[in-house]
Amino acid sequence: MEPTLFDKIIAREIPADIVFEDDEVLAFNDINPQAPTHILIIPKKPIATLNDIEETDLALIGRLQFTAATLAKQLGFAEDGYRVVMNCNENGGQSVYHIHMHLLGGRRLAWPPG
Ligand code: 5GP
Repeated sequence: MEPTLFDKIIAREIPADIVFEDDEVLAFNDINPQAPTHILIIPKKPIATLNDIEETDLALIGRLQFTAATLAKQLGFAEDGYRVVMNCNENGGQSVYHIHMHLLGGRRLAWPPG
């Protein structure tokens, strides 16, 4: 598999505004924010789409969600509320084929999404 943009961010070949990192997860500000806070939370393991998650990845996927909630608390909008989104494939609007969770907070978000 060709390295994606996010593989290059993990390898520090492309700069990013990193807000959290551990052995398994990296979180950084989205370059084109759709809310006052818009963070991308990614596994360091390259998984192309939600459809490629395997049973052995379940703890890792939970860690993405836990990281989102932890960041929301640290940034002060957990109680007001926020949204996490994972886009899958073309109809889902996925543009980078390395799974990522969008954490959007800091304003009231409309529903349904476009
Ligand atoms: P997707 O559309 O795949 O769900 O989300 C990909 C996200 O990556 C988009 O929100 C887009 O703004 C963001 N993005 C694209 N290129 C870069 C980049 O070079 N740096 C950062 N930090 N985010 C990027």
